[in-house]
Amino acid sequence: MTDRRPSLVRRTPWPESASRPVGTPIQPSVVYASPDPDTLDAQYDGRLLGYTYAREGHPNASVLAQKIDGMEGARDGLVVGSGMAAVTAVLLGLCRAGDHVLGGDQLYGRSLRMMRDDLPRLGIATSLADPTDAQAFATAIRPETRLILLEVVSNPTLRVADIAEIARIARERGVLLAIDNTFTTPRGFQPFAHGADIIIHSVTKILAGHSDATLGYVAARDPDHRKAIYDFAVTTGMTASPFDCWLAERGLYSFELRYDRAEANARALADHLAGLAGVRRVLYPTRPDHPDHNRAAALLGARGGHMVSFEIAGGRDAANRLTRAATNIPFAPTLGDIGTTLSHPASSSHRGLSAQARETLGMSEGFFRVSVGVEDIDLLCEEFTAAIVATQKES
Ligand SMILES: *Cc1c(COP(=O)(O)O)cnc(C)c1O
Repeated sequence: MTDRRPSLVRRTPWPESASRPVGTPIQPSVVYASPDPDTLDAQYDGRLLGYTYAREGHPNASVLAQKIDGMEGARDGLVVGSGMAAVTAVLLGLCRAGDHVLGGDQLYGRSLRMMRDDLPRLGIATSLADPTDAQAFATAIRPETRLILLEVVSNPTLRVADIAEIARIARERGVLLAIDNTFTTPRGFQPFAHGADIIIHSVTKILAGHSDATLGYVAARDPDHRKAIYDFAVTTGMTASPFDCWLAERGLYSFELRYDRAEANARALADHLAGLAGVRRVLYPTRPDHPDHNRAAALLGARGGHMVSFEIAGGRDAANRLTRAATNIPFAPTLGDIGTTLSHPASSSHRGLSAQARETLGMSEGFFRVSVGVEDIDLLCEEFTAAIVATQKES
């Protein structure tokens, strides 16, 4: 018996080390062993800290959430498996049948879809209003309105919502205000400082920043709201992968550098595009020709963000020529990557709309949105010049 070999089935103890790792460890364990039922009770009651089961929480999600909490001035934020999981946890964790939810009319595509198809199916009424028009929101609030869902800068036309006035109206009427801060990021805008009750992020975008992790984040000012959102997310299994959390946390170390560089590039690229023949118009919040320029200055200061939209002359043919000529700039339906990406709303995010509806929103076949990355700005300007020159050629 004495020379029995150790069982491969038993866990081998983690090696002892007088020093500790500098990098964050990845902890993929689904389950955690407590010493005895009294300890487990104390954990469930919150008298002792400790993890039990990964769907309920795990260290890599906690570390990531704490970092975003720090940027947002939030407490006890929750990391979930995607930005849409965060949107869903807020809407379904806080609303019940008979409630009404009011949203901005240019929300992220899937958020709009949830407002249009899913909430009504569950007995939650929804309507949309133009968030640049606070009066339209005041009028659209009903006695049963529970929550307003807004984005600060809209996708892809980069309109700036009248957050100050809508937050004031929401407070006066006892309606919760949830802000999806994905585009603006905590570096550009802090929702809690502007009257929001709930903050949502798609961490997938520039927070994680490398297009290799799909994650969401949500924080609530009121602990009761936080608990309702948390319980809904855990019950419905919105768990974030520890590896994705680890990647995103790693991304955050360089977030401020990436954001500042991408924003400076976006500002310069917007001005460059505006000077090119073949470009009909450029949208960037801090440019004097932006329709919400004054509100952008009041709300965002000099922080115009890392997104630029522009319209070229010439319809779908010209659009095809532009993406084919821009071989180093991926034509891909996302944003916030370390490198610049291009998206074409008419064929992707807004393809479900009629051409007429897109025209009304100002998104023709020649309309592009650029998520600007951290490349050398001279290189970017050269590549865009070449791509736009290509659109001018007759086919
Ligand atoms: C991408 C995005 C989402 C959804 O996030 P996923 O991580 O893709 O689920 C929600 N809101 C905004 C503003 C987004 O850009």
